[in-house]
Parts: sequence; structure tokens; C-alpha cells
Amino acid sequence: MFNQISTEGKLAISFVIICMAVSGYGGFLAYKQDMFALLVFKITAVVSFLATLIFVIKDLASLANILLRIQIIAGSIFTTISYGFGYGYELYLLGVVCVMFLDIKKSTFRSYLFFIISAVSFLALFYFTKMLGFSLYDLPEHIVSLKDEMLFANLLITVGGIAIYQQFFSVQYFNDILKIDTQKDFYQKIADYDALTGVLNRQSFYRIVGEKFLEKNHENIGVLIIDIDDFKAINDNFGHDTGDMVLTQVVGCFSNISSSLVARWGGEEFVLLFVDESFDDLSLIADELKNSVRQIRHDVSGLSVSVSVGGVFGSRILDSIEQFDIALNLADKNLYFCKNHGKNMAKISQI
Ligand code: GH3
Ligand code: MG
Ligand code: MG
Repeated sequence: MFNQISTEGKLAISFVIICMAVSGYGGFLAYKQDMFALLVFKITAVVSFLATLIFVIKDLASLANILLRIQIIAGSIFTTISYGFGYGYELYLLGVVCVMFLDIKKSTFRSYLFFIISAVSFLALFYFTKMLGFSLYDLPEHIVSLKDEMLFANLLITVGGIAIYQQFFSVQYFNDILKIDTQKDFYQKIADYDALTGVLNRQSFYRIVGEKFLEKNHENIGVLIIDIDDFKAINDNFGHDTGDMVLTQVVGCFSNISSSLVARWGGEEFVLLFVDESFDDLSLIADELKNSVRQIRHDVSGLSVSVSVGGVFGSRILDSIEQFDIALNLADKNLYFCKNHGKNMAKISQI
């Protein structure tokens, strides 16, 4: 079950457990010093932190948050009244004050209220316990001698608490941003990729070519247009679903080659862009592709698939979008040459 709790939930749980332990230890100290009012208070604190923990686990974050703040404010006031000023328990109020500033982006009436209560309580405590020197108990000498250590420990707890809280909220804030981003990514992805085969669609291919490849001084550029032979007959004889399966299997053959971009140009036609492959390599790749499509094993008996490949190779293809279109036209012409000369073949020309 613990795995289902979010990171911020786990941090909140850790924080509440620390608060519980601190209160428990405070109760133990109070018991040792016969400070019974404080002991009763600390026991209520432990119970209330336990309730907070249950709220956190049950995902009642808002209730947990309120209870936790009430607990911290009440604990701080009551312990400072019991011990006196300077033992560091008053710092927790400043912690709640700081937290309101961390929260400022989503400050609500409630956080302003806690902020005011904490600030006013701190000032009142300062006046009564520091200026007037009031404290509920006369502390024994060995506790008074530990004043600096207690102040230091409470300072650490306050700073740690603020840090955890900040982390807790910044994580949440970050997650909110991340969620928006992934949603944006998600829709962007749907818009950019072909739903059936998972490769780019023609529009996004053009956009990426424009953004990442045009005018980047690539020397060896190759474009291949791959068209499945007699695909209409495959659909007609074996059904549209088989046609779809053939499309994805042909795209599967592209995964083993080193193309820079792959797009479904439409129907049963794909375009592959290569940068930094030599002309000989491009010819080899075209033949390999042709052969690997022939070797696809289909579950459907009698089904045989082949592709024709028209290509161009040159150094200026990506100088401008016009050059790129000229190259695509030539590759298309080469593809038609293949279609008219028996199919299952490749023709690449150098420009
Ligand atoms: P050629 O060898 O000359 O390329 O002939 P062909 O039959 O492959 O080409 P044609 O352009 O005549 O037919 C293409 C067919 O592709 C027609 C169309 O119904 C089919 N098609 C287009 N998109 C899809 C798709 O997403 N799934 C399936 N199953 N068929 C599709
Ligand atoms: Mg075809
Ligand atoms: Mg076609």
C-alpha cells in the first residue's frame, strides 16, 4: 500500500512521524520533571499527530494540514508558556509564519489566518515570557543548563520542518507543471505521429526537417520513398486488418536501419531521411530494406509482401525546402520507374 502513496505523501508522513516522536520525547521529559500539565498536553499532541497521520494516509490532505498547523501552533505556545522563552519552542511559530510565505502562490484565507495567529502568538509570547519573564514552571537547574542545546535542537527541527514542507510543496508544484507538460506532450504526440504505425506523419516530418535539418551543412543526404507493392490487392484479398498488420510489419523493418527520420507519407507510402550515410551505404540500405520486407513472416497463408524503393542522394538536398521538394520529386520518379519495371526493386539517383 505504501507504494501507492505519492512522494509528497511520504514526506508528509515522515514529517508527522518526526513531530510525533518529538512530542513523545517532550512528554517523557515533562513526566521526568513532574510537569503534569505539559505531560497531558504532550499526550494529546501524540494522539493528534496520530490522527494527522491517518488523514495523510487516507489522502485527506487538507484536514491533515489544518490539524498539523493547529498542533504546531498550540504545542509551541503551550511549551513556551511551560518552559519560558529561549528554549526554542517559540521558533515553531516562526516556522508556521515562514510556511505561509512558501505557500504564497496558493495562499488561502486559511493560511493567512494561521499566519496571523502564529505571528500574534509569537509577539504575545515574546512579551509575556521574555519581557515579563513568565513561565508556568520553575525549571530545575539541569534543564536550565541545557537551554542552549534545546534551543539549538528546536532550531534544527524548525528549519528541517520548513525544508520538508518546502520540498513537499515544491514537489507538488513541480508535479502540477509536469502534469500539464505531459498532457501537452501527449496531445503533441498524437498530432505528430501516425496512430497506426507510430512513425511521424507528413506534416511533422516537414516541420522537423525545417527545424533540425535544413541549412545545417550536412554533406551526405539521402531520401528514400518506400511504397508497398500491390497493397490494394492485399486489402482486397486478405482484408483491411491484414493490410494494417502489413503496414506495421513494414515499419518494423525500418527500426534496424540508421535513418534520421521516418514518416508515413500517406496510405502505404513511407519516407526515410538519411544524413551522413554515403551513396553506397544508402544503396545497401535500400536493398536490405527490400529483402527484410520479403522475409517478414506472416501468419496469413498465401500473403506475400514486397516494397519498391525510390531514392535520391546528394549534398544540397537540405539547402532549402525547395531543394528538398525537388529531391522528393525525383525520388518519386524513381519509385514509379520501379513500379513500371516489375516492382520489388530499388532505384536511387545522385543529384
Ligand atoms: P502499387 O504496387 O502500384 O503501389 O499498387 P498499390 O495497390 O499498392 O497502390 P494503390 O495506391 O492502388 O493502393 C493503395 C491502397 O492502400 C488503397 C488504400 O485503400 C490502402 N490504404 C491506405 N491506407 C490504408 C490503411 O491505413 N490501412 C489499410 N489496410 N489500407 C490502406
Ligand atoms: Mg503501393
Ligand atoms: Mg502508393
